[in-house]
Amino acid sequence: MTDTSLAPAPVYTVPQERRIVTAIPGPKSMELQERRREVVSAGVSSTLPVYIEKANGAILVDVDGNQFIDLGAGIGVTTIGHTESSVVEAAAAQVGEFIHTLFTITPYEEYVRVAELLATHTPGDFPKRSVLINSGAEAVENGVKIARKYTGRRAVAVLEHAYHGRTNLTMAMNFKAAPYATGFGPLAGDVYHAPSSYPYHDGLTGAEAAARTIAYLEKVVGATDLACLVAEPIQGEGGFMVPADGYLPALQEWCTANGVVMIADEIQSGMARTGRFYASEHFGWVPDLVLTAKGIAGGLPLAAVTGRAEIMDAAQPGGLGGTFGGNPVACAAAIAVFESIERNDLLAEGERIGTTLVSGLEELKSRYDIIGDIRGRGAMIAIELVEAGTGDTTKVPNAAAVSAIAAYAAQHGVLVLTAGTYGNVLRFLPSLALSDELIRDALSVIDEAMAAL
Ligand SMILES: *Cc1c(COP(=O)(O)O)cnc(C)c1O
Repeated sequence: MTDTSLAPAPVYTVPQERRIVTAIPGPKSMELQERRREVVSAGVSSTLPVYIEKANGAILVDVDGNQFIDLGAGIGVTTIGHTESSVVEAAAAQVGEFIHTLFTITPYEEYVRVAELLATHTPGDFPKRSVLINSGAEAVENGVKIARKYTGRRAVAVLEHAYHGRTNLTMAMNFKAAPYATGFGPLAGDVYHAPSSYPYHDGLTGAEAAARTIAYLEKVVGATDLACLVAEPIQGEGGFMVPADGYLPALQEWCTANGVVMIADEIQSGMARTGRFYASEHFGWVPDLVLTAKGIAGGLPLAAVTGRAEIMDAAQPGGLGGTFGGNPVACAAAIAVFESIERNDLLAEGERIGTTLVSGLEELKSRYDIIGDIRGRGAMIAIELVEAGTGDTTKVPNAAAVSAIAAYAAQHGVLVLTAGTYGNVLRFLPSLALSDELIRDALSVIDEAMAAL
C-alpha cells in the first residue's frame, strides 16, 4: 500500500509563473502561423495562435519564450498537469516495450488494467464492462451503438445546450449548429433535443425541470422507441450548467422504468476534474453507461465506454473496436493517471481549486455587475457574463465582454477559454496542478481586464 501522506511535492521542470517577453503572438509564432496558413485547413482554428514548445504543470511555454498560466488544460485533458512525471515515465517505458499490436488481434494487460480501473472508479456498484477507443466522439458513437443493440430501439435523446463531438452522429447531437454542423449535413436522424435544467435561466427545481424533460420525451419521441438519453452531468461547451438538485436522478429513474439506457457523457467533467472521480457523484446519479475521454491518459488519445455488464455485452463479438482503440502507450499513461490521482489525493486538489476560484470570482462579482452567474464544481468553474444591470432580470448575454476579457488575459499571460451557447461564458478548466498563488495571479489579470472594459 502506498502511504499517501508521504507523497513527495511535485517537481516542476518549468517555473510555475507567467512571463511575457514579446508581443502576443511573438515573432516566431507569427512565422509559424504563416506556414500553417499554407498547409493546414482553414476549418481548423486556434483560440490563441502562440506555438507551444514546452508545457509543465500549469504553465505553457511558447516558441518565443512567453509563459502562460493555462486555465484550459487543452480543454480539460491535462487534468493532472502537463507532462506529469509518472505519466511521462509510464508512456516512455511502454514505447520501449511495444507500441501497437491491436487488442482485437493479440491483447495485452494494459487494456485490461484500464478496464479494471474504470470499473472501480465509475459510479455504481455492479458488474461492469468497458470498450476502449480513441476520442470522445467515438465514445459517444459507441455508447449509442451499444444502447441501440441492447434495447432494439432507434431514437437517441440529448439535452439542450449539449456538446457531444464532431463526427456525423455527434454533430446531430450537439445543440449548436454553428460552427460544428453548418454545411456538413445531412445529419444523422432520430436524434431529439429535450429541454434541460439551467437554473440561472429557467428558475426550475430539479423535479420541475425533470418533469419538463420527461414530458418532451414521452410526447415527442415516445418512451418505447427511445434507446438512450445522453446527458453531461455538468455541461461543458454549453457553459458549465450545473443542473438543479434531483434533476439527473429523476431522469435516471424514468429511464430505468421505461427500459431506456441513460448515458453520462463525462468526457469533460470526469477523471477527477470536479473534486469527485466523476461529476455524476455530485448529484447522486448512477448512470447505466459512462463515457470517459479527455483527462484519462494525461494528454494521450484514449476514451472509454463503461457500464452495466448486461448492456455492454449486448454488442456482438467484433461489433466494437477499431485499429488504435486502447493503444498500449495511451493505456500505460492512463494507468499512471489513475495512480497519480490516488497517490497525490487529486480529488482534494479539485476541491481546493474550486474553493479558491469561486471565492475570488465572488469578490469580482461584488464589483462587476456583468458577472451574472458563477457555477461549476472543483476545477470546472465558469462565469456567465450579461449586459450590465440585467443580471437579476433579463440576463442579456454579453459575448463581447467575454471575448475582450479572454483577449486581454492572453496578452498578459493567462490562457482562459470561452464557452456557452451564446458565447457569453468564461470557463476555468485548469489542471489540478494549478496552485492557489497562480489562481490569484490569474484572477488579478481577469480583474484588470474587467476594469479595462
Ligand atoms: C470534448 C467533448 C466531446 C468530444 O470529444 P472528442 O475527443 O473531441 O471527440 C464529447 N462530449 C463532451 C462533453 C466533450 O467535452
